[in-house]
Amino acid sequence: MFSKKTVRVKNVLIGGNNPLVIQSMTNTSTMDANKTIKQIKDLKNAGAEIIRIAVKSMEEAEKVKEIVNNVDDVPLVADIHFDHNLAIKSIQSGISKIRINPGNIDNENNIKELIKVAKEYKVPIRVGANSGSINKKYQNMLKHEALAESALEQVKLLEKYEFEDIVLSIKASDVIMNYKANCYVSKFIEYPIHIGVTEAGVYDDAIILSSAGISSLLMNNIGDTIRVSITGNPLKEIYAAEKILTMLGFKKGLKIISCPTCGRTEFDIEKTVYELKENFKDMEFKINLTIAVMGCIVNGPGEAKAADFALVGSKTKVLLYSKGIFIKNLDKNNLFFELNEYLKSKKYL
Ligand code: SF4
Repeated sequence: MFSKKTVRVKNVLIGGNNPLVIQSMTNTSTMDANKTIKQIKDLKNAGAEIIRIAVKSMEEAEKVKEIVNNVDDVPLVADIHFDHNLAIKSIQSGISKIRINPGNIDNENNIKELIKVAKEYKVPIRVGANSGSINKKYQNMLKHEALAESALEQVKLLEKYEFEDIVLSIKASDVIMNYKANCYVSKFIEYPIHIGVTEAGVYDDAIILSSAGISSLLMNNIGDTIRVSITGNPLKEIYAAEKILTMLGFKKGLKIISCPTCGRTEFDIEKTVYELKENFKDMEFKINLTIAVMGCIVNGPGEAKAADFALVGSKTKVLLYSKGIFIKNLDKNNLFFELNEYLKSKKYL
């Protein structure tokens, strides 16, 4: 979305003017191809555009073939630690991208061998750095600089062998360090950057950290692909990623906003908002609308002027506004049917 260079991962383009790409990672054993294939398909159907799988052994690198052949419409990334041979085998098995950790493949000849095969198969490499990747020689630097420099060193190593099909990611669980390290590195490279906050915890905590970590970087024009890391079922990651991007305005979708309620509130906003969410559940990321739910006629229409539509409650009815202009009254007892009919008549649904 913001980088100067573009990288192709099978049928998905990352960086340049291309839209932000949502990624996730399976948590099944790669040896269990059936389970992994099923999870990949579920993630894809939920909205994942690139999916990473862990490849921990030669047997798993061999299994990649079967997995790739059964999910051929979504690019897969092999996550490799320590052994460059696993990366090479995964490429030969049909993987679309490799993710290596610069901290743990440190033999230059091994990197050189990997680059040769990656070039031959036109497979990009993501250099994925985290706190464990910091090279000791940078220990006197500030931690975010040490992390960024360690990642940059690996990028330079790939460039040394004329390999430029690179995506870079630097992740930390500390949002401020995550932010500073990515800002630092973005000054030196033109490659796409994958962003996210690592070890972000379970859902409730992870969405807070990820929302802050991802949005602060996107607002600074840094980030071409994202992952919202959440402990547990990776399907939650996709929903959270879409939700965060929609609510922050980086992606199209349904945004429901509502006033905080106060002494002027004339109807049950909280209940209405939850019912409204339920009403649009299946269309959440398919329609592009902002709907406000406001609690009184005094301030509601004005405050909700920026929304496409506002439902403004009064004691007896709900008034429908669009960009601050009154449209019609809606029956409180038939609210969602009447709203849907109106939106359908105007071709929003
Ligand atoms: Fe209160 Fe009305 Fe503002 Fe809602 S819109 S917070 S009810 S003044």
